Amino acid sequence: VRRVTDRTPQERDPQLRYLEQKLRSVPDFPIKGIVFKDITPALADPRGLAIMVDGFAQRFVGQRIDAVVGIEARGFIFGGALAHRLGAGFVLARKSGKLPAAVDRVSYETEYSKDTLEMHQGSWLAGARVIVVDDVLATGGTAAATASLVEKQGGELLGFAFVIELAFLGGRAKLAANGNERRVESLLIY
Ligand code: AMP
Repeated sequence: VRRVTDRTPQERDPQLRYLEQKLRSVPDFPIKGIVFKDITPALADPRGLAIMVDGFAQRFVGQRIDAVVGIEARGFIFGGALAHRLGAGFVLARKSGKLPAAVDRVSYETEYSKDTLEMHQGSWLAGARVIVVDDVLATGGTAAATASLVEKQGGELLGFAFVIELAFLGGRAKLAANGNERRVESLLIY
């Protein structure tokens, strides 16, 4: 028996079905065997962009968020808009060698690459309430690495926001690790 709670967010919400129609799946990009979830048509669509930013904002409004961390590069697109909506600041998690001042650094693996992320030291005051945003949650390597940077800098990590979660890759479990209370909010789940 299928229960209401078993349904995906997009099955429950017509706005999300609209958003879903604005996404593009590109097979074998950037390497063979990966189906790349391309959000650029949704970004270019005014209603699509609003559904994404509003969807994130609704899930974290009233949580006294101090900082939104955006993961390079697509997390930057939502991060600034979302931070503004939440009355928070915006902090960049960048690929290696891009940030000019002293950084903290972490290396990790994604669905299709090995990478390093850096964040400027002293991005917030100790105990700041922080969320992390990106376009796609795949294996969770990228978001988990960003989480470790947030905690290294003394931030209280309240949760994550993604446009798309590829649930069959199990990334959510990686983010909930250590038994801490971190919300994982994905607009569309596959
Ligand atoms: P992961 O670390 O495996 O969760 O991968 C997440 C990161 O890689 C995010 O920054 C995504 O933008 C990107 N990514 C991984 N898999 C995909 C995919 N199938 N489509 C689009 N982006 C992806």
